[in-house]
Amino acid sequence: MENSISKLEFKSLGYEYNSLEPFIDAQTMELHHSKHHQTYYNNMMKSAAEHGADQLALQQLFGRMSDFPVFLRNNAGGHFNHELFWSILKLNGGEGPHGNLGQAIVRDFGSFDRFRELFSQAAATRFGSGWAWLNKDSAGKLFVSSTPNQDNPLMDITPEKGFPVLGLDVWEHAYYLKYQNRRPEYIDAFWHVVNWHEAEKRYNAL
Ligand code: MN
Repeated sequence: MENSISKLEFKSLGYEYNSLEPFIDAQTMELHHSKHHQTYYNNMMKSAAEHGADQLALQQLFGRMSDFPVFLRNNAGGHFNHELFWSILKLNGGEGPHGNLGQAIVRDFGSFDRFRELFSQAAATRFGSGWAWLNKDSAGKLFVSSTPNQDNPLMDITPEKGFPVLGLDVWEHAYYLKYQNRRPEYIDAFWHVVNWHEAEKRYNAL
């Protein structure tokens, strides 16, 4: 059973802020985690308590997101999305997906290159702030999507629903210090820091 929101903690990354260099710089990681994510977490805890959502698990809240204020949606989404994002990042030395996830990517997209192209395109064409996702649908098939702001594929207000395996933050705060307006370079860099082992663990558990 998933913890209720009232019991959620703000966790450390589990690795150093400079672990993803040169692809994602230490200063961006530190600000992103200790300022941006911390603020989403703090606001989520306060708003969930105010609106009687603190005894729900996050997945339950997302399933009824339209019943709650947009402020809670933005901040609970912000917390969940960032926790997922930190967990799937690691220098991968150029390795790609393997095992069950690698097979499912080939099965559902034709090849890893085709998947990477679709995902990169979803990330590049998201106008303004948001996320690109690799998801598993309720039938077990993989698909790529994107959401605005801090929405995610678990929310009832999201048209393309699924269980996220990978997420890429394309808010400017995720890349502006190093890449300025060059979002495509940041997206290219992402493929060097996908933790495929963790992604496969998520895929297998969903
Ligand atoms: Mn972010």
